[in-house]
Amino acid sequence: MDVKQKYWNPVLETLPRGKIRQLQLNKFKQIFKWTYDHSKFHRQLYDQAGIKPEDIRSFKDIKQVPKVEKSMMRDIQRKDPFPYGDALCVPLEDVAVFRQTSGTTGQPVYQPDTWQDWEWWTECWSYILWAQGYRPQDRVFIPFGYNIFVAFWAGHYAAEKLGCEVVPGGVLDTKARILKIQELQATAMMATPTYVLGMAETAKSKMDLDASGLTIDKITCAGECGASIPSTKRRMEQAWGAKVYDHAGATEIGAWSFECTEQPGGMHVNEALFLVEIEDVETGEIIEEPGRRGKMIITALDRQAQPCVRFDSKDVIEWADEPCPCGRTARLIKGGVVGRADDITKVKGVLLAPSAIEEVVRDLDGLGDEYEVVVEKDGDTDRIKLRVEVLPEAENQCQLIEAELVDQLRLKTNLRYDIEICGCETLPRYEVKAKRFKDLRRKG
Ligand SMILES: [Zn+2]
Repeated sequence: MDVKQKYWNPVLETLPRGKIRQLQLNKFKQIFKWTYDHSKFHRQLYDQAGIKPEDIRSFKDIKQVPKVEKSMMRDIQRKDPFPYGDALCVPLEDVAVFRQTSGTTGQPVYQPDTWQDWEWWTECWSYILWAQGYRPQDRVFIPFGYNIFVAFWAGHYAAEKLGCEVVPGGVLDTKARILKIQELQATAMMATPTYVLGMAETAKSKMDLDASGLTIDKITCAGECGASIPSTKRRMEQAWGAKVYDHAGATEIGAWSFECTEQPGGMHVNEALFLVEIEDVETGEIIEEPGRRGKMIITALDRQAQPCVRFDSKDVIEWADEPCPCGRTARLIKGGVVGRADDITKVKGVLLAPSAIEEVVRDLDGLGDEYEVVVEKDGDTDRIKLRVEVLPEAENQCQLIEAELVDQLRLKTNLRYDIEICGCETLPRYEVKAKRFKDLRRKG
C-alpha cells in the first residue's frame, strides 16, 4: 500500500452517487437471496410478508422487506443449531469466531462469524483507520480488556493489516497502560470516550503526568457518542494533544461509519459495504432528505454467517446536506449517532436526548468530565436530577456555575433540572461504556 494514497479503496470511496446506489441495490439483491435461501428464520419472515428474492428490483421494493429487531434475535437463539439458532446461514463447523453483544438490557445476542466474515470486519476497520490517518509507521496502543465483546478486536486486526505496529494493552491497569504508552512512544490509540478522559485524569491526579505531553497524536473512539459531541471531543483533544475521531459499529452489524481527518462535523457511512436507511419514528416513512432525524435501519451487504438485513438498530441519525471536503462520495451523517431511540425519552412532554446534557456539562470550564442524570417521578410530574463534579480550582464559584448550567440547559433542552454540585472524583468512574443516564420511571 502506497502511504501517500489518500483512500483505502480509491475506487469505492470516490464512486459517483449513482454508481454507489446501483452497487448497493445489486448487493442487496444478493444478500437478500443468500439470506432467503440459507436462513430458516428469515425465510419464514419473508414468506409471511409475501416477498421473494425476485421481487427486489428497486429501492422501493427494499422498503417492503420486513425489519429484524434485536428481540427477535434472542428468540431465534433458543432454537437449533445451538447456540445460534436458525438464522445461521452456514454449517456450524464454518463458524470461526464467537462474540456477543454488550447491551445493557436483556439477554446478550450471540454473533457467529466465519473466517471470511472476520476478514470482512477487518476490511471495514481498514477504511476507518486509513481515513483517520493511520499509516504503517504508526505504533498503535490498544488499552482494551480483550474479551467476549467485539469492541476493538477488529480495530486491532485492521491496524495490523495496514502495517501498523500493534501493542495490545489487555490486562494492564490504567497506570501501567499509560507508562507503556510513554515507554514505547505509541502514536495512536483506540478507546471509548469515557476511558480516553479517564486515562488522562488518572495520569494527572495519580501520576503527576500530563497526557498531552505523550506521543499519541490520534485517537479512535467507539462505543459511545462522545467523540461526535463537540465539547467532549474538545476535552479529549486538549487532554491528549491529539486528534480524536469517531466511528460507529455494532456486534450484529459491523463497523459501518467513521469520521475522516477533515472532521466535518459528522461521520461517513461506508456505503460500499452497508445500506443505511433512516426511518421516521412516528410514520415509518424512509427519510431521504438532510436535516430530519430518524432511526437507522441497516443492512450489512456482505456479511454471511448471521446476516444483518434491514436490522432496526435504534440509533438516531440524520443525513448531512453538504458533501465532505475529503472527496469521499459516501454520505455523511450529521453530528454522528445522536443517541439511541430507547434513550431519547419524553420528560414533561419534551423530547430529551442525553447527549444534549453532555454537550452543556462538558462545555463549562469549572466542571470535571463526569456527570449523572436521574429522571424520576415526583407525584404526577417528572424531575430531572443532574449531578456534576466541580474542579478544585473552581470550588468558590459553585453558585455561578450552577446558574450558568441552569441557563444553558434550559436553552439547549427546554427543561429545568435540580442541580447537585459534588466534589471532585465522587461520581462513579467507568472503564468501557458509561451508564450516566438513569430513567427510574421505567418499569424494572
Ligand atoms: Zn470526509
